[in-house]
Order: sequence, then structure tokens, then C-alpha cells
Amino acid sequence: MINRNYLECLTCGTKAMTRTAIGHSDHQEFAFPCSKCGVEIRFAMKLDQSAPSFSYDWIKGAKWVHEPTLPDLPNIHYLDGENLIPKNMKGNFSPFIVTSFLPKDPAEYLRQRDVRFFASQQVWPKLKELRVHAERRNATLFDKLARDLHYDGNLNDWQDRLRAELWAIETYGNWFRPFTSADEAFIRQRISLAESIAASDHHLVTELTSSHNHHALFTECQRVRDAFAQLYPALSSLYQTFYWREDSGSLDDYQLAEKRFAELKTLYVDCLETFCRISVIAATIEGEIQIGAVAVPKAKGTLTVAQFQAVKNGNKPDVLKKLPLADLFVPFINSKLRNGVGHNSAGYDVTSDEIFYSNHNNKGTTHYRLPYIRFCETIVLIYRQFELVWLYAAWLIARAEGVKGRIM
Ligand SMILES: [Zn+2]
Repeated sequence: MINRNYLECLTCGTKAMTRTAIGHSDHQEFAFPCSKCGVEIRFAMKLDQSAPSFSYDWIKGAKWVHEPTLPDLPNIHYLDGENLIPKNMKGNFSPFIVTSFLPKDPAEYLRQRDVRFFASQQVWPKLKELRVHAERRNATLFDKLARDLHYDGNLNDWQDRLRAELWAIETYGNWFRPFTSADEAFIRQRISLAESIAASDHHLVTELTSSHNHHALFTECQRVRDAFAQLYPALSSLYQTFYWREDSGSLDDYQLAEKRFAELKTLYVDCLETFCRISVIAATIEGEIQIGAVAVPKAKGTLTVAQFQAVKNGNKPDVLKKLPLADLFVPFINSKLRNGVGHNSAGYDVTSDEIFYSNHNNKGTTHYRLPYIRFCETIVLIYRQFELVWLYAAWLIARAEGVKGRIM
């Protein structure tokens, strides 16, 4: 559904038409420069998916006006938060139609896209609820919800229930990490190899949990999922690129309509921090395999789990890149971007549609700019990878709570 509206720039009085696609989330926020004076115009919409209904929430830099005062055809802003917007619309009126044939299998892509919308908006709140029942040890409510989620294993004790919860989270996470099954097989193989080597001594799990409070880790991971689920509709169109044909082109030819830098930067920082925490578990598993001890191997000697945990995230890749799991982690740890966007001076520039940030060190300050869509792509890529390496975290959480045997 598309809603048309008309606005007038508060700075120069230029009028424009907005054609806004009504999306799947509770909140949408769009920004674009006035076509004449370049000042940022930003507005938000409130949506009620259960009604369904929507309303215009607030607007900055412009005011809404009635249609009849407009000259012939005003400049038009196509605001579709859930499809990639071609920079050149070539006379097309719908971003959805322009981009719908980019995937190799358009029908399969749309099916998976619908599942992801459903998962992020409907299933995720249930998984949060499951966590509440688990924390409050409310077996009746937990079991009822687990069965509603189609879990059909035993629910005789809290180990069973944790297994059920981890199953539900993994099923959920799977939708957000398409085309990662080869890496998933690698992770499972490394975990079971390390477990078979460590079978005689149980220090692996105890040492990991002592430096890595698994309750805190679980909470942190849930927070990342929660933030991502809320922002997912505004990032969802980027998932299309995983399904593209080889000749489908470049993301540089597209932009995103929703501009949510303030929320996204927090999500990015939290996701990267959690991701780096999980890398400690993964590196320790490699240590167990390589040297049969609970330690992280490096070029010369080893680090204890606590020592590696304390290594700055920006320096963790120096150790990780020597391990067989390097490709799972190293390409995703961009500490320049992380430190830049974590700083107050980072922001979004509507005229160039770029984010800007800077790094400060003893050599001075370096300024960077990155297209907004590339920043969002970075978030989608690291979240997808987070859902993959979550398998390490899930393993530790399960073992620390005494779950035996196969976890998922
Ligand atoms: Zn203006």
C-alpha cells in the first residue's frame, strides 16, 4: 500500500509529493534533502500492524500541506523502506517492480523475505517471552509456549527446556543467515572435535564460563537480536543481494529510503562487541584442538582465555587470523568503523546520503565517509555472521547449564 502526501520545505517553501510505502514495522523514519535548498526533511510514521492502520507521527524541516496548492507535478520522493530504491528510477514508479527480478529465483526470495518479516515481527516477541518464563522458572508457561512454537522434544527439566529454547533461537536465527550452511558444518565439526579431545578433563567449559559469564553473554546476545528485529524492516531489502544473480549489478546503484543512523550505530557497536566476545569461545576451541589445552594459540606461545578476552577488539584479528576459523571472524571486525561510529562526532549527511566518522590517535584525526547503504550492508553482514557464530555461544550456554549430548 502506498500513501501519497504533500509537504512544503520550511526553509525555501518548495513543495514536494511523498509516495510512502506502508511497511511491516511499528515505526518508519524517512529522510531526504529538499530538492531545492538541500536542507534535511525527516518524518516518521506510526503503524499498527494488528489494526492495520498508520499515521504520520512527526515531521522536521517541512510541514504537511494540502494537495490543491501544488503546481503541476511536484518533485516526487519514493519512500519505500522495504525495497532497494534505484538511484535512477528511469520513469518507473515502483522500486519493488524495478528490483523484483534481480534475484536468481525471485519467487523463492519473496517467500524467504516474508518468513523473515514474520519471524522478526511475530516470532521474536515470543522468544523474548520464553526467556522471561525461563528466568522466572515458570515451567507451565514455558512449556505451553514451547509447544506453541512447535517444539516436540522432552520438557522434563530445565536442561530440556534450555535445549528447547536454544532450538527455537537457532531456528529463528537461521532465517537471518541464508547461505551459511558450509560454515555451520565447520563450526559443529570443530566443537565436537574439541569436546572429544577435552573429554578427559572438564576445564574447557569451566574456564570459558569463568571468564565469560554465560548468563551475561546470553543476555547480550538477546539484546542484539532485539535491536535487530526492531530495525529489520528498514534493513530488510539488503537481504535481497544474497539472492542476486551474478550480473545483478552493484549496491552502489541503490539507496535506502529509511534513514535510522542513530539507532543503527548502537546496534552495530553492540553487535560487533558481542561478536568479538564469541570469537574468544571459538579461539579457545581451536586451542583445545591444536594443543589440547584451554588456551588460545598465537604465533609464538599461547594466551589464557582471560588474556585473549582482554585483548582490544581491534587487535583480536591478529590472533584470529592464524587460526582455521579466521574467515568466520576477521573480515567482519572493522575496528575503524566501530570506533568511529561509537563516537559522538559520527553522523549522517542527507545531501550526500553518507555517514561520516573519524578516528583519533597520536598521529592526529582521520575523517571517513561511507555511503549510508554500505553502512547498513555492514550491519546486515555482521548480524548474519553473528547468528552463525552464535552456535559457539549456544554450545557454551548449554554445557555451562549441564545440558548433555547433542544440543540441537
Ligand atoms: Zn527547501
